Amino acid sequence: MYRDEEREYRECVKCGFEDSLRLDGRPDPEELQTRVNQERDDKAPSVSEQERDSIQVINFDPNPGQKRRDH
Ligand SMILES: [Zn+2]
Repeated sequence: MYRDEEREYRECVKCGFEDSLRLDGRPDPEELQTRVNQERDDKAPSVSEQERDSIQVINFDPNPGQKRRDH
């Protein structure tokens, strides 16, 4: 576990999973940005069904419990 001015980083020795948290406890701005973008994509008429499928494939995890067993 280590930290810099803004964030604290943790790494799981069992599976190598890495996570980081803001020291001030605020929501991660990157995660917020992702959520906003996805919401826009769902509603935007310019996004084709094919593009939406691509996004879902990228986010899809066939084994959600395997990598993050203890997280
Ligand atoms: Zn782990």
